[in-house]
Amino acid sequence: MRKLPGLSETHIDHRAYPPGVAYMDGQYLPMKEAKLSVLDYGFLHSDATYDVVHVWAGAFFRLEDHLNRFFRGMEELNLSIPYDKAQTREILHNCVALSGLKSAYVEFICTRGTSPTFSRDPREAENRFIAFSIPFGSVANKDQMEHGLHLAVTDVLRIPPGSVDPTVKNYHWLDMVKGLYAAYARGADTAVLIDGKGNVSEGPGFNIFVFRDGEVSTPIASVLLGVTRQTVFDICSGMGIPCHARDVSVEDLKGADEVFVTSTAGGVMPVTRIDNKPVGAGGVGGFSEKMMAAYWEMHNDDSFREAVSYP
Ligand code: PLP
Repeated sequence: MRKLPGLSETHIDHRAYPPGVAYMDGQYLPMKEAKLSVLDYGFLHSDATYDVVHVWAGAFFRLEDHLNRFFRGMEELNLSIPYDKAQTREILHNCVALSGLKSAYVEFICTRGTSPTFSRDPREAENRFIAFSIPFGSVANKDQMEHGLHLAVTDVLRIPPGSVDPTVKNYHWLDMVKGLYAAYARGADTAVLIDGKGNVSEGPGFNIFVFRDGEVSTPIASVLLGVTRQTVFDICSGMGIPCHARDVSVEDLKGADEVFVTSTAGGVMPVTRIDNKPVGAGGVGGFSEKMMAAYWEMHNDDSFREAVSYP
């Protein structure tokens, strides 16, 4: 590569990448080598769908659910890949096995790709599949897991379902990023966005739940149908605790006894402050603690785990 005059060494590719293994264009590669064309519409137009599943203690958790959501998303967006579900599952297993990671964040993506003529007609693009396994990451760090997240309720509107179907996992995140900056300006850790009716929707990478008077609720509209959200429904059903998907107002959220957020990236994570005020009695509540324990316990259930065969 020819160096431009005045461009110092530090401008040339010395970026650090996490360890891990990616799959693209039929090959397994170290993360550092997994690179995409700048002409890919996944990058230029956020024209893509994806999913994230985690591996915990050497086994995938609810992989079947993540694969189903991914394949449904591709169908809705008129995207396709040359692999069926079984082959995709095998690629994901291989990425994790080759990465050697026992706790991993495993993302798989289908982008619109590019067309050889750079045509603007999406039907002419060659869709692309990429998968990777990197170390497990969480929405909440260790301190936030122990003491709870501080959430800001922003007035940022989650992109409306009439524009982008929120149940198809997507990269339309400018609203989320706007919410994050608004939250940081108020000293909060993360943000929740609102839906078109002014109710609570979701945040950057998570669904939200409120617990009040022994019942659990989560927003019904303008949200991704999270796999962790489904796990909370399953746990509540096993415990005989009512759990409803319904409109959750900002008042419902602020008046809750306990609040927690859910994501494959971190599981069930407590929220102990909203807009600088304590939630309920303050501190991580007993119900949230029970949910967190039950969530990780469920990782031992053979109907949800799929062990990786490491070399
Ligand atoms: N909502 C959004 C916008 C997300 O991106 C995510 C996960 O990344 C979630 C909710 C939680 O979904 P899941 O529990 O399937 O990880």
